Amino acid sequence: MKYNIITLGCKVNQYESSILKSALDSIGFVYSEKKPDIIIVNTCSVTESAIRKDRRIVNKIKKDNPKAKLYVMGCLVRVDENASEYLKADKASRSVEALEILNDFGLGDLVSDNNLEQYGTFDRSRYFIKIQDGCEQFCSYCIIPFVRGKMQSRKEMDIISEIEKAVNRGYGEIVLSGIHIGLYGKEHGNEEKTSLAKLLKKIIEIKKDFRIRISSIEITEVNNELIAMMAESDKICKHLHISLQSGSDNILRAMNRPYDRAYFKKRIEKIRKEIPNIAISTDIIVGFPGETEKEFENTCQFAKEIEFSKIHVFSFSAHKKTKAYNLAGHLEKSEKQKRSSVLRGISSELEKKYKKKFHGQELGIVVEKFDDKYIYGKSEFHFDVKINKNTINKGDLKSGKLLNIQN
Ligand code: SF4
Repeated sequence: MKYNIITLGCKVNQYESSILKSALDSIGFVYSEKKPDIIIVNTCSVTESAIRKDRRIVNKIKKDNPKAKLYVMGCLVRVDENASEYLKADKASRSVEALEILNDFGLGDLVSDNNLEQYGTFDRSRYFIKIQDGCEQFCSYCIIPFVRGKMQSRKEMDIISEIEKAVNRGYGEIVLSGIHIGLYGKEHGNEEKTSLAKLLKKIIEIKKDFRIRISSIEITEVNNELIAMMAESDKICKHLHISLQSGSDNILRAMNRPYDRAYFKKRIEKIRKEIPNIAISTDIIVGFPGETEKEFENTCQFAKEIEFSKIHVFSFSAHKKTKAYNLAGHLEKSEKQKRSSVLRGISSELEKKYKKKFHGQELGIVVEKFDDKYIYGKSEFHFDVKINKNTINKGDLKSGKLLNIQN
C-alpha cells in the first residue's frame, strides 16, 4: 500500500506527521509521492489564509488523485466539525495523534496513546521533539488556544528517553518543539515541579555528541536561569526565536501580548550581554486592525533597532473565532501586501548583516544532506550553510554529523 502525507503548518504538525509516517512504515506501507493509494493531509488553521490554503490543496489533491483515499487531519478538522463535508475528504480525523487513521489500517492494537511517541522520527539530521501542547494565552489574533486546548506537558522521563533514542540513531540536533514551550511544566495540576530550564539541564547531561535548539519562546519566558544556561552550555544552539508581533505598544495591547517595546528591548539587551553573537529571529504580523502608517513605521524602526537575524512576516488574516476578527479598522489587502513587502525587505537586509559577522569564522554545523559537490548544513545560529565537499573528510559525510567548518 502506497501512501503520501502532506504537512501544512507548524513544527508540531511536522512532528505528528512524522509519528504517523513511522507507524505506517512499520507495518510495511510505502511512502510515495507518485500514485499513492492513501493521501493524508495534516492541516493548519492558524489564519484565514491558512484555511484557504488547506482547502485549495485538499481539493487539488482530490482532483489529481481521484482513486486515492483521502484523509484530512490536524487543526482545521479540530476547529471546524464540518470540514470533512466541504473538503470532500473520505475521512476527517479529529484525533490529535491520528490514532483514528491508524485504527482504520488495523494498527489499533499495535499503536495506542501510550506508545505512539516511540514512532516519532524524521528522515533528517534534525529531530523535532514535541515537549508540550496547548496554550492559554489567548492572543487576540490566534486560533491556537481554541484548537489545541489547555497546556499539557509531556513527562521529563519520556522526553529524555525519546531524545536518547534519537541521538543513538545518529541525529545531531534535537529541536524542542511545542505550542508554548516556555511554560513547559507550568500547567495547573502538573506534579513534576519542572520547567524548561530544569528539562534542559537533564537533556544536557545525556552523554552523546549532539546539540539542542529551543524552537520558539516568548520574551517573558526567557528568564535569567535560561540565559545563563545557554551562555554556559556548548550543547545549546545560540539561537532564540522570540515573536515580537508588533513594535507599537497600542497594537501589542490590542493583540493581548504580555509585554511592551521597552520590556522587549530590555530583555534582548540582557540576552545579548550574556550571549553576544546570539541569533534572535522573530515573527511580526503586519496590518493588524487599526494599525496606522505611523505604527507600522514604528515596527520597522524597532525591528532594525533590535537587529533581528531574520523576520517571518505575516499579513494579518485572523480566524473568525478570534477577537481580532471582529475589531474595527481592517486594512485593505493591497495595503497589507505593501507593508509585508517593506518588512520583508528589512528582514533580508538584517539577515545579510547578521550572517556577515561570521565570514571567515569557525562555525558549528549539523550536516543535513549532500550531493556530488556540496554539503548542506544548518549552523548553530540557524542560517543555512553550503560548503564544498572536498573540504571535509569522507568519514564526516553523514547526515546528522556535527562539524566545525571554516565559513
Ligand atoms: S502565545 Fe499567543 S500566539 Fe502563541 S500560541 Fe498562544 S495564543 Fe497563539
